[in-house]
Amino acid sequence: MKSPPRANNMSKTPISTLYTRFVRGIALPLGDWLIGQRMIARLRFLEKAQWWDREQLIAHRDQLLSETIKIAYHEVPLYRELMDEAGVLPQNIRSPGDLSKLPIVTKDMLRNGYPQRTTRETAQKTYEECTSGSTGSPFCVREDPETTGWYRASFMLALEWAGWQIGEPHFQTGMTLDRKRWRWVKDKLLRCHYVSAYDLTDVALDRHLAAIEKKRIRLIGGYPGSIYHLAQRAAELGWNQPIRSAVTWGDNLYDHYRVAIEQAFHTQVFDTYGCAEGIQVAAQCEQGNYHVHNLDVIVEYLDGEDRPVPPGERGHLILTRLHPGPMPLIRYRVGDTGVSAGQRVCDCGRGFEMMESVEGRDTDIIVTPAGNRLIVHFFTGLIEHFREVKSFQVVQREPDSILLRIAPAADYTPEIGEQIVRQLKEKGADCTIQVELVDNIPLTSGGKRRFVISELPHR
Ligand SMILES: [Zn+2]
Repeated sequence: MKSPPRANNMSKTPISTLYTRFVRGIALPLGDWLIGQRMIARLRFLEKAQWWDREQLIAHRDQLLSETIKIAYHEVPLYRELMDEAGVLPQNIRSPGDLSKLPIVTKDMLRNGYPQRTTRETAQKTYEECTSGSTGSPFCVREDPETTGWYRASFMLALEWAGWQIGEPHFQTGMTLDRKRWRWVKDKLLRCHYVSAYDLTDVALDRHLAAIEKKRIRLIGGYPGSIYHLAQRAAELGWNQPIRSAVTWGDNLYDHYRVAIEQAFHTQVFDTYGCAEGIQVAAQCEQGNYHVHNLDVIVEYLDGEDRPVPPGERGHLILTRLHPGPMPLIRYRVGDTGVSAGQRVCDCGRGFEMMESVEGRDTDIIVTPAGNRLIVHFFTGLIEHFREVKSFQVVQREPDSILLRIAPAADYTPEIGEQIVRQLKEKGADCTIQVELVDNIPLTSGGKRRFVISELPHR
């Protein structure tokens, strides 16, 4: 998953301009004030804390853990019950080593208890973030501006590791295609050229490359699958505008993606790993090593029987977010796997512990007759809005048709299926779509659900 360090990377670090100083010093703090979050203040704190020595980091982290556990115990019924059942008091949890005294919390537990038993009042207004997560069934978490400010700050820190200055022109692929109103303002202000991660036809890719060239964009970010196809197209065309760095998020970065992107754009890929439940978990520094955001989250690596696995071995990731927010996440089984790097330290000098790799987010690609490439987010981004669908899976066996397996919820009707098919076609799935209702979607031997399975030979 790693790429070798590039000696010339630091020399590529941009010098801040008057404009980037304005964005960071005035525009974003103003935005924070309007939204009621404290992203920039948190970012400034993290910029210093990343260079603290281990003892200072550990002391601060353990203090955050104690406070989070205390609040969860006193204010959130689910955690109160779990801790009472386990005979554990808040003062018994002082460091990550104590977490094994607590049971693991699954998505189902949080889904069943939501919102009465899983949330708490904060002094801020709250909002729901619902996703299909990594299981295919809708899953909601509650956040407030404090939560958002935290994970956005850590994401911005990761962008800085990749040599980005906030406010520099950049190209981004994403799923939020409605760029009106405040998103339009944000794109203009941050100089973001935002495009659909759904539309990956050659025509669209050519248009994107032309825009990158015209606007002299040096930074690229988005879903690995979409950046990979952009890179492949660039290589085909012999397109070679210099790109300073490419940052990936939201999906699994396969090794062949990384190699193709780095070669096509003569750049370094910086992968990040966060979860939609409101935690920025890890990101790569300029040495190519993943660092855990130690002041945001505690990561445990466990085997199938919930015992810790040694560094270097793949484990199921269990996350404990280090601030409670409206919906604390303590020993949360996120559904991904990864490998710890143990006590290894990185040459970059940052004190954040290292992660060998992030794995297990399964992705496959559907190629349509017209040559459009549909990544997993194409389907999850659309179908997750249908509460009538419990889970789904897309299988391609023929070049011109796909099978959409739906495990329906109680209020599902055939009209819902027709509506989904129509919308998929409108968004670029130019093939026959056959719907099959099933009781449930089988998991892989590794216990993961695959949204998209292409049984065609890889192109
Ligand atoms: Zn490092």
